[in-house]
Amino acid sequence: MSLIVQKFGGTSVADAEKIRAAARRALRAQQQGHQVVMVVSAMGKNTDMLVNLAGQVCDNPPAREMDVLLSTGEQVTMSVMAMAIHDLGGKATSLTGVGVRTDSSHTKARIQSISTDRMRKLLDDGNIIIAAGFQGVDDDLNITTLGRGGSDTSAVALAAVLGAEMCEIYTDVDGVFTTDPRQVADARKMSNVSHDEMLELASLGAGVMHSRSIEFGKKFNVPIHVRNSGVFTDEPGTIIGPIAESANRAVSGCALTKAEARLTVSGVPDKPGVSLTIFEKLASDNIAVDMIMQTAGQDGHADISFTVLESDLPRTLIAVEAAAAAVGAVDVTHEANASKVSVVGLGMATQSGVADRMFRALAEANINIAAITTSEIKVSCLVAREQGLEALRAVHSEFELGSPPENRVTFEDSLAAAKKAKEADAIAVVNRLQAMEDLTVHGVVLDDSQSLVTLTDVPDSPGISADIFEVIAAAGIVVDMIVQGIGANGKTNLSFTVPQPATDEAASAAGSAIEKRGGTAKSYPSIAILSVTGVGIRSHTGVGLRMFRALSKAGINVELVSTSEVKVNVVVAGDKGAAGLAALQEAFADVIG
Ligand code: ADP
Ligand code: ASP
Ligand code: MG
Repeated sequence: MSLIVQKFGGTSVADAEKIRAAARRALRAQQQGHQVVMVVSAMGKNTDMLVNLAGQVCDNPPAREMDVLLSTGEQVTMSVMAMAIHDLGGKATSLTGVGVRTDSSHTKARIQSISTDRMRKLLDDGNIIIAAGFQGVDDDLNITTLGRGGSDTSAVALAAVLGAEMCEIYTDVDGVFTTDPRQVADARKMSNVSHDEMLELASLGAGVMHSRSIEFGKKFNVPIHVRNSGVFTDEPGTIIGPIAESANRAVSGCALTKAEARLTVSGVPDKPGVSLTIFEKLASDNIAVDMIMQTAGQDGHADISFTVLESDLPRTLIAVEAAAAAVGAVDVTHEANASKVSVVGLGMATQSGVADRMFRALAEANINIAAITTSEIKVSCLVAREQGLEALRAVHSEFELGSPPENRVTFEDSLAAAKKAKEADAIAVVNRLQAMEDLTVHGVVLDDSQSLVTLTDVPDSPGISADIFEVIAAAGIVVDMIVQGIGANGKTNLSFTVPQPATDEAASAAGSAIEKRGGTAKSYPSIAILSVTGVGIRSHTGVGLRMFRALSKAGINVELVSTSEVKVNVVVAGDKGAAGLAALQEAFADVIG
């Protein structure tokens, strides 16, 4: 019998009437012949209210007790949902935790396994099951939660273990839009979006889905349908599945994260193990690092900049100052009040000219870019917080995201593709269910076809990146990684990689672009790019660290770093490529799937 999972977010269960509407929807699906598992969030802003309450009684609430407290929000919803279904003449049972086993990292636990026996029995007896979202229990039966927004992850994980035909995510918007429709008026609902794009968008600020839910969607081929829970709307929403909406668009969507802070450790000795010392310290203090910009060194010194959530800034400063002293760095500077605007698209991997268009759009809006990182499917720019929204609107309009692409894949076709992928993969999925949310690494790759161009001491002003990359794009050169960190005294450093045959042309084009402003262009023809690819690479914070550790042990210096949800890239000297590849293969041997 076919089974569907229906997840209802906070606003979709905010009051009694909405709960009854959700109950009717579940009953309708059951009447249509499906077994139904509902996953519910806390009602309305209940979780915020509980967080606030904790803050009133305690400055630094213990994480374990925070989980006990927050888990109650979902438990209220699930019990009243069961009552509503009973009242409508249906059969329903609410279950806390529903056998969701997690690790013990309170407030951000990861799912390890889900036992299905009890659920199957209840379903076979004709019950609608109502599961509390966003929570589980660890091996010692302590209650854990998965992190804010985690009910999406509960829903997709349940759909994976139960082999659900569909995981429906009911929310307060019509689907996944090209960007947050509450911030950009002409944002457009997409008929479908690929896993990789959604993974990036979610982790770059698109709050509509918890990014870890997309990891499950991709790993286990769960067809996901995001749609509006509004009582009278039965419109199709957005399918998150294996294919993109359009093959001929370079950019599919954009997103903004508001509260970022940037730190720069400058004058770091450019030798193996230095970044490791810094990031090891951050990891041991459990601080998640986001953009990492290590600009290639000059005079044996490099600058390492990175961003963290602004709320983590005080802790990060303490950690970094200690690490900086240990490695003999010259200075640590920081700046809060930053926002990160990103564009995402699968088409970017094969089309050039995205980065320079984005930089130009920002320059035209008179927005200075403080830092840049790219991966094959995204470009992120750090900007001043007060310009964040303006930056988001500028890029949304530059890439004409408000109007539908030509030849777009229809909702029906993407649904069919998602279902087909699920069927084709059924057996492999069962094998992957053993350790559900463990890191999945596909492999380690060496690319020695690129060279590196670095620009140092370039005056930092709006338009500088646009000028440089426009000239390079006009010369027909495809840029792969771009990393812009910050230098001192209003100067910036910028590094990028290009195919080796284009090295000299790229260096001289970049040199001419900065000629009037000042700065030095240099090229390094012999480099190797080493990448670790997988799913949810950035949110599994240990990946970068493991890479740095393995390379440092092999005596290999890391020149540049860029990260995305599907890949971490590092640049090393060309003659170290093979040794680096071997070191990484060994370091990831246990997780390469
Ligand atoms: P729920 O409580 O249903 O989980 P959330 O508030 O977590 O709902 O997510 C829905 C919200 O996500 C929307 O109201 C919208 O403002 C925001 N959002 C951000 N980015 C996007 C996007 N790209 N598409 C749709 N909604 C988005
Ligand atoms: N109630 C939790 C939160 O607000 C989980 C969720 O809704 O997804 O973060
Ligand atoms: Mg949500």
